[in-house]
Amino acid sequence: MAKVAVIGAGLSGLAFSWYLKKFRPDWELIILEKELQPGGKAKTIYKDGFLCEAGVNGVLDNKPSTLSLAKQLGLKPLKSNDASRKRFVVKDGKLVRMPDSGSAFLTSSLLSIKGRLRVIAEAFIPKGDLSKDETLEEFACRRLGEEAFKRLIDPMATGIYAGDPSKLSLKSCFPRIHQLEKEYGSLIRAMLKMQLAAKKKGKKGPGAGPGGTLTSFDNGMSELVDALQKDLFNNLKVGYEVKELIRDKGKWRIITKNEEIEATHVVISCPAPQASDIFKSHLPELSELSKTVYYPPIAVVSFGIQEKRLGKHLDGFGFLIPGPEKRRILGSLWDSSIFKYRAPEGYALIRTLVGGARAPILGLLPDDQLIKIVHEELSDLMDFKPWPDFVHISRWHESIPQYNVGHLEFERKLSWITRGYKHLYIRANWIGGVSLNDCVMNSQILAEQVAKGY
Ligand SMILES: Cc1cc2nc3c(=O)[nH]c(=O)nc-3n(C[C@H](O)[C@H](O)[C@H](O)COP(=O)(O)OP(=O)(O)OC[C@H]3O[C@@H](n4cnc5c(N)ncnc54)[C@H](O)[C@@H]3O)c2cc1C
Repeated sequence: MAKVAVIGAGLSGLAFSWYLKKFRPDWELIILEKELQPGGKAKTIYKDGFLCEAGVNGVLDNKPSTLSLAKQLGLKPLKSNDASRKRFVVKDGKLVRMPDSGSAFLTSSLLSIKGRLRVIAEAFIPKGDLSKDETLEEFACRRLGEEAFKRLIDPMATGIYAGDPSKLSLKSCFPRIHQLEKEYGSLIRAMLKMQLAAKKKGKKGPGAGPGGTLTSFDNGMSELVDALQKDLFNNLKVGYEVKELIRDKGKWRIITKNEEIEATHVVISCPAPQASDIFKSHLPELSELSKTVYYPPIAVVSFGIQEKRLGKHLDGFGFLIPGPEKRRILGSLWDSSIFKYRAPEGYALIRTLVGGARAPILGLLPDDQLIKIVHEELSDLMDFKPWPDFVHISRWHESIPQYNVGHLEFERKLSWITRGYKHLYIRANWIGGVSLNDCVMNSQILAEQVAKGY
């Protein structure tokens, strides 16, 4: 009988396991997780009446994978408040509202008139060399102009990847955008055509802002982890750090800190640096390749403060900061304005991200320096003068895998090498998309394939 071992119980590993158990309840399944708590980058901290997300904040409901899984687990989603549609970008040290529609874009002060005209001219720019693995910066400057890149696209790279747009690959990070240029020749023309087609069907077409509504759960993202853990209780072994993987007589031997386990199938669901260590002694080619994925450190600094002392009621999603603004933080999310139940009545909760690919060293600063920097930056940008009533810091030494130029080739090589080993699979956020929706979707697809004997 098949015995499947999943290494890593982040949401990729948990979602894969849940679906595999659904498709093949007769198979033996074991999930090995290094930490005592599963969930990986989905971790909610409840402290002094505040609900702080250490990592994942929510998922967009325009891709169904995570919410469909949640529904099957019997969970009730929590939609973000309407206020969260107001997103801000820092321009010359001030918060400016990000336009969320074509008409708002035309009147927005975020770009100069010249910058706005350059964006409109995108409709007439010919297709580029689509075979090239372009950086996000090269693509955006070529199609939308330098100003739009700096003010609109650069903060997007920060918001999703905490990345460096002069290194991130457009094709790997935003494959849909690459596809639109390929199909329609222009992003603006693509948007107009899709809007027209949607209108004909009586539907609303895509807008300028991020599609979909950010969604979480009343008790935060850990609600999803807890529900998966409950269903997988008999399969999950926590505190089991995998050290080595050995192919032996047609089976896999998994060496953990605690014991040796044998399996017919192995699914690697831990981050690339740990996968590289696991592969090191017996699968050196995979080890060398996995080692090349870069994960910058990030610190997530949560400030809670009485609104009376703050002197305002937070109204919006928060703000992102383009790299050229040269700030020491990546941006802040106004969690108590985005979702209900994030702060006690009369309090605000603000989560600020520090570090990332452009300033990794800042993500490693000691607590006191981080708090001072965040307080100074928030004082300057949003008039956050008083000292916070509540502070919590979460740290990720290896946060988000960077899909830099060359990542497509990396995925191709990885897939080619793993195919050479029977029943060895890699299913984690360092391939196929970093968003939770992509992770859950890819995990479900792989579970289906494995169940069918692929
Ligand atoms: C600060 C931050 C904010 C984010 N916000 C969002 C968001 O709002 N929305 C969104 O869609 N995405 C967000 N993401 C991305 C998203 O969190 C991840 O892509 C997704 O959760 C990754 O899940 P995963 O299971 O692939 O990896 P991980 O969550 O990294 O899980 C890997 C697991 O493997 C375990 N492990 C490691 N080594 C071993 C070993 N040797 N043996 C056994 N187990 C091991 C780890 O302990 C961990 O539990 C965010 C990421 C970060 C860092």
